[in-house]
Amino acid sequence: MADDGRVIPPGGTIGIVGGGQLGRMAALAAAPLGYRCHIFCPDADSPAEQVADKATVAPYDDAEALDRFAAEVDVITYEFENLPTEAFARMGRKAPVRPHWRCLETTQHRVTEKDFINAQGIGTAPYRLVRGPDELAAALEAIGTPAVLKTTRLGYDGKGQVGIEPGDDPAEAWAAMNGDEGVLEGFVDFRCEVSAIIARGLDGKTAAFDVVENRHANHILATTTAPASISGDLARDAQAMAATLADALDLVGLLAVEMFVTTDDRLLVNELAARPHNSGHWSIDACHASQFEQFVRAVCGLPLGDPARHSDAVMTNLLGDDVDQWQTMVADPNAHLHLYGKAEARPGRKMGHVTRVNPIAE
Ligand code: AMP
Repeated sequence: MADDGRVIPPGGTIGIVGGGQLGRMAALAAAPLGYRCHIFCPDADSPAEQVADKATVAPYDDAEALDRFAAEVDVITYEFENLPTEAFARMGRKAPVRPHWRCLETTQHRVTEKDFINAQGIGTAPYRLVRGPDELAAALEAIGTPAVLKTTRLGYDGKGQVGIEPGDDPAEAWAAMNGDEGVLEGFVDFRCEVSAIIARGLDGKTAAFDVVENRHANHILATTTAPASISGDLARDAQAMAATLADALDLVGLLAVEMFVTTDDRLLVNELAARPHNSGHWSIDACHASQFEQFVRAVCGLPLGDPARHSDAVMTNLLGDDVDQWQTMVADPNAHLHLYGKAEARPGRKMGHVTRVNPIAE
């Protein structure tokens, strides 16, 4: 079934593929609008399941379980995107999949993604597809060093990434990547990293959040500051790029666009995510409508809410045992604590976040 453009009225059930914190916060935002959520996740007692109406606990490759799930919900969306697109196409025969699974086809592969971005007239770091150490050596000749070698698929939070400095051995870098296909990217000398998150409704209308600044530690997002310390013109350009990309994908839902601001003030896109994004969590406590509310509104076909920022904000991820400081944070009236209900605080695991807000003076 192609998406028939139907509106899912309150009372309907949103099927969410993936049971992590993004699904949890989406389900929490769906409830006040009168929706139920049904989570599909291989793990029992997932962060999303804990706050949802129903869960199917089955592996992502269990076609029968996916079929049953799809038959029980009114619309399907995802917070975990590393499912084969065929699985979404199959579920799409039973209920609309929003954003459309074709958006995933574009964003799941780093080279397809960058080709798509460049085709819209938007810049990225220089890049080359490489399928072995010889192709890597040739790509290094073309792009130069320093450079970053990344797996084309399934990379996140710096996994599957290798920095290459002048004089490094391409064969060693290739072995360190530990994959059979990679993309070599020129290293961007950036002033800061920002992201633009935009919601796009079923009617094609868009609503962009303020552009925010992201700091990473060990390749994992550490803090997001809203707004970003960039000029108004650059921020508007970033939002316009996000709108161009969302329109070109014909996306219904949320698009997060991670970008580098170069030292000479150009915007280069690093990565896209067709779902709620960690760098949008601040919006829960600092915007009239959060990214999760916009996500629910978009996939259900409701008009979008107002993404305007009523407060400046700094969001800090709580990784691993950072979460042990919850007592201090929960006692701070200025700090909004969000814990994800994960039992085990492994190093680097996203256990929660805290957003400190500062209302904007009238
Ligand atoms: P990614 O997994 O592509 O989001 O990369 C994680 C982080 O690594 C980014 O947020 C940057 O801080 C850094 N990084 C990735 N690619 C590049 C690049 N081409 N140039 C400079 N820094 C990069």
